[in-house]
Amino acid sequence: MLTLTKENLTEYLKNRIDFLDYSHPLTISAVGEGSIEEDGDGFINFVFRVSDGTHNIIIKQCRPNSRMVEAFQSLPVDRCELEYDTMMIRKAIVPEYVPELYYIDHDNKVFITEDVSYLRIMRFQLIKSAQFENFARHISRYMASTAFYTSEYYLETSDFRDLSVRFMNDGMRQIMDNLMFLVKRSDHDPVGAELDPDFARFARKVVYDEKVMLERYKLRHIFVTKGECLIHGDLHTSNIFLGEDDLKVIDMEYTFCGPISYDMGYLLNNFIAQYASAAFRPFDSENQRKEYQQYILQTIHDVFQGFCQEFIKYWNEDAKDIYQNLPELQEDFVSTTLSETFGFAASANLSRCAGAVSFPDFDAIENPVQKHNALCLSIIISKQLLLQRENYLSVDDVIKDIIGIEYIYKSNITEW
Ligand code: ADP
Ligand code: MG
Repeated sequence: MLTLTKENLTEYLKNRIDFLDYSHPLTISAVGEGSIEEDGDGFINFVFRVSDGTHNIIIKQCRPNSRMVEAFQSLPVDRCELEYDTMMIRKAIVPEYVPELYYIDHDNKVFITEDVSYLRIMRFQLIKSAQFENFARHISRYMASTAFYTSEYYLETSDFRDLSVRFMNDGMRQIMDNLMFLVKRSDHDPVGAELDPDFARFARKVVYDEKVMLERYKLRHIFVTKGECLIHGDLHTSNIFLGEDDLKVIDMEYTFCGPISYDMGYLLNNFIAQYASAAFRPFDSENQRKEYQQYILQTIHDVFQGFCQEFIKYWNEDAKDIYQNLPELQEDFVSTTLSETFGFAASANLSRCAGAVSFPDFDAIENPVQKHNALCLSIIISKQLLLQRENYLSVDDVIKDIIGIEYIYKSNITEW
């Protein structure tokens, strides 16, 4: 495998990308050299930006070793093809939400796409309390259409099975199988390892609560075995680029046929975190804090509702005959989606808040006491959602619980 560098990249591109203007030196940078706001918080792949002044492209090389984590030395390199192919499938369904695809090199595990950094990485805008009015509409359309049209509600059963086999992706999935759910107590368990002792004690108490563990094992089993549609697998807010009325999704190497509710749940983890972070980070006024928190709750609500409405719309229009005229099945779909989505959101939130990898959603809080409070609130909300998820009748019940938990938490710390 040729190792791409800034030095050999121009030669590499000359034989492969004919629309670039090579009459002047290309501008080349490696992701990781810029700020986190520009370059994101990805840590696996080697990514370069190249511009000739007119065209801006991204070159992503999937090597066996990770760019940032030394322990990752034998990552599966076929993730390159899997990511490219899942992007192509999504491009066919919702072209407006996927960067342009230009080239794949099977020998060197490289693919080339449009650089969409004229848009902003969502996570770092949310940290600054930015609001995106159209986000919920776009993301629910993206998620619902890619889920429905790769599911067996739409595809011929044998085609759906071929899709599941093609995207088995065992190697990459193993990372998430454990990271987002596994909570076995052991001497090497990372829970709280790198956190301050008070917080670590608190986090362990929640993470090792037997009822919490039980729910997370149930969810892990759903994640591992319920192959309903081709999911993205890592749909967090750093993998979403946004403008006023524009959205692009990147970084799909964890793709496989998984639960319909997983991507939405995993994404809403970031919104639970933002809600808890906004409860304690500095704002110019309490009114502004309230308004921002309200925006976050509205987004959670609209993403969930929008997803279900869009999915049912595609179902009514395009599902196979055997799945038509079954309103009870659709009702069951919505209630299962509700309990799974907020289960996955809460489980991912616990892993991120109490895990060893830093969680940038809380980085805007410099005061250590307030950061501690925000993380604790996020964890308590997640515990509640995990334990109550099967009792919720609608997303409004979830929102009520989030507000109620914040009220109780804040009342308690004021009394201390
Ligand atoms: P990783 O799997 O290592 O997270 P990503 O695909 O997320 O790899 O790429 C890492 C970073 O490179 C992203 O956070 C983003 O900043 C940048 N990047 C990747 N693809 C694009 C793209 N199509 N347009 C703009 N920036 C991109
Ligand atoms: Mg990434």
